[in-house]
Amino acid sequence: MPINKKKYEEIKNLVVAKSCTLVAVSKTKPVEDLMAMYELGQRDFGENYVQELTEKKEVLPADTRWHFIGHLQSNKVKYIASFVHLIHGVDSEKLLKEINKQAKKSDRKINCLLQLHIAREETKFGLDENELAAIANKIKDNFFPNIDVVGLMGMASNADDVEIIRNEFRSLHETFLHYRTELPSFTTLSMGMSGDYEMAISEGSNMIRIGSLLFGARN
Ligand SMILES: *Cc1c(COP(=O)(O)O)cnc(C)c1O
Repeated sequence: MPINKKKYEEIKNLVVAKSCTLVAVSKTKPVEDLMAMYELGQRDFGENYVQELTEKKEVLPADTRWHFIGHLQSNKVKYIASFVHLIHGVDSEKLLKEINKQAKKSDRKINCLLQLHIAREETKFGLDENELAAIANKIKDNFFPNIDVVGLMGMASNADDVEIIRNEFRSLHETFLHYRTELPSFTTLSMGMSGDYEMAISEGSNMIRIGSLLFGARN
């Protein structure tokens, strides 16, 4: 299926107006589709699987910014540490430690977002408020010198009730504002996907992750 250029231009206009970053979520899509998007000017791409990401990275131009948005296993950090632009779903101290270690080996700092659990579903990954507070204290105490923790990421419930989703986004935004007063590195709030990005932006998101609207439905 060809990429949806019209939708891309429409979302692009919105994110420019709102000073928001668009991450084009290209998981499961062929590199031809990513190249077509790249040629429209898109540079930020999001992938969920390490192997798929490393394969696509070999093909796309070097100035592509790769976002890892899936659930990252500690033993796979080493495969992306040398080049990844931003890791969105960090949800444990164990993972932060490993990212810090691999970043040091690559002699760089890696940008990360902490994933907060905001949805009703048990299945979605993420920290609860207490775990977030504990990690924030370690960040302040400089436990992870090779990581820049630049903000928060969250996924809303798969609900039909828009007020449920709005409340989840609103509470994530409040948590973001709270930590931003303590952690100067906090600049980024990644929330909003194809089904809910407009609401996410109106509730304070400044980074949206859009897949199916741009690339078509996934199998
Ligand atoms: C797949 C995925 C997206 C994109 O979902 P769409 O509904 O296709 O826009 C965004 N964020 C995460 C974490 C994802 O896994």
